[in-house]
Amino acid sequence: MRSLSHRCAVQEKELEGEDKISTSMTSLDFDCIVIGAGIQGSFTAYHLAKNKKKTLLLEQFLLPHSRGSSHGQTRIIRKAYEQDFYVHMMEECLQLWTLLEAETNTKLYRRTGLLVMGPERGQSFKLFKDTLKRNNVPTVSLERGEEFSRHIPHVTLRNGEGAIVDTTAGVLYADRALRAVQGYFQSLGGVIKDGEKVEDITPGSVVTVTTSAGVYRAKSLVITTGPWANALLSHTGLQLPLTVLKINVCYWREKVPGSYAARKRFPCFVHVGEEWFGHHIYGLPSNEYPGLVKICYHTGSETDPDKRDRQTDRSDIDILSQFVSRCLPGLDPEPAVVETCLYTVTPDHHFVLDRHPSHSNIIIGAGFSGHGFKFGPVVGKVLCELSLGQLPSHDLSPFKIQRFQNRSKPRL
Ligand SMILES: Cc1cc2nc3c(=O)[nH]c(=O)nc-3n(C[C@H](O)[C@H](O)[C@H](O)COP(=O)(O)OP(=O)(O)OC[C@H]3O[C@@H](n4cnc5c(N)ncnc54)[C@H](O)[C@@H]3O)c2cc1C
Repeated sequence: MRSLSHRCAVQEKELEGEDKISTSMTSLDFDCIVIGAGIQGSFTAYHLAKNKKKTLLLEQFLLPHSRGSSHGQTRIIRKAYEQDFYVHMMEECLQLWTLLEAETNTKLYRRTGLLVMGPERGQSFKLFKDTLKRNNVPTVSLERGEEFSRHIPHVTLRNGEGAIVDTTAGVLYADRALRAVQGYFQSLGGVIKDGEKVEDITPGSVVTVTTSAGVYRAKSLVITTGPWANALLSHTGLQLPLTVLKINVCYWREKVPGSYAARKRFPCFVHVGEEWFGHHIYGLPSNEYPGLVKICYHTGSETDPDKRDRQTDRSDIDILSQFVSRCLPGLDPEPAVVETCLYTVTPDHHFVLDRHPSHSNIIIGAGFSGHGFKFGPVVGKVLCELSLGQLPSHDLSPFKIQRFQNRSKPRL
């Protein structure tokens, strides 16, 4: 935190800034400042620029970087969810991803389908299946045995396990998507300043943001700082019940090259048998690294985003090895590559998309709980709407900060 005298000086500048905004803008003044150039901040900036707002996107690291949550080559996009509200948001997400593909002439999505498998009588499997059916998502149900093996070779379903395929699902090319959305934002006149860490925020009718390199003012501020959300919110007197987890991103070698390849129509998958493995396990077909299949455990060990390399727990990798031996016999059950990514998890695993409770021109997008990438286009749209004082175009009641009253740390 900066000293009191610094804050007073900034507040004086803020008042001067307020005058200037109503008359003429200086080069340091913006309609909106977005902090954090991960997928959510980048899409928020993109929507603001499309609304002709003068927008500054600030990023602490030089871009591109791999220290947050949005890096890496791939993410799953799916309608298969346990809750209707995510399925509803996904309808528009798919359209907006297609629009960005057209705007930037870049292929961002490959349809592969998503195989949902797990104990047929388990609560999770039933919820996924019912939500898909209730929302008329195109699906294929596969009977265990000959039919399943014909469609999905090299996967073993156990007695009592069911399988349903969300045929709308696929792979998003994550790094490419981040580049595309940031590039398009800049082509609309948006300003990105990377390698500039935000060190202080002074709320007010004009918000002042102090970085390692300068001071900027804007009518509204959007905070999308992923694992660093609480570090930034501490400057505004707010803390959310967020837990940062280090995820071991594991790649497993095919015994026969190509047997789990996207080009051979192997789908993305999620195993929802938390009764057996504790948490969901998900995977993507071999694609980005030839001969290697990405499979991750949907939780990890708590960490500090600035000290994540000191977190060396590998118990999740042991669970994944058991899963691979049992369900994917065509893979070597030791990971060939292990990378790192971070989750920022809320107690109910739903996002935070809301106004700051004390400063209505500060908007927060946080707690994406390891499943936010696919929603980037709609998250950016609603954060933009909130910052412009518009009615959000999606129901944000599941994402309100108020739900955390009397809650503390997430259950992991
Ligand atoms: C292993 C893994 C697999 C995943 N798989 C999927 C999937 O299949 N499908 C899916 O939909 N989602 C998936 N996700 C989740 C998804 O990637 C995240 O929800 C999403 O990337 C979160 O984006 P973000 O913009 O909130 O955070 P980030 O990408 O972390 O961006 C926050 C940015 O803020 C910057 N920042 C922080 N502090 C400051 C500061 N003081 N000043 C300036 N800048 C700052 C950071 O440097 C960072 O660039 C996965 C995540 C992981 C880790």
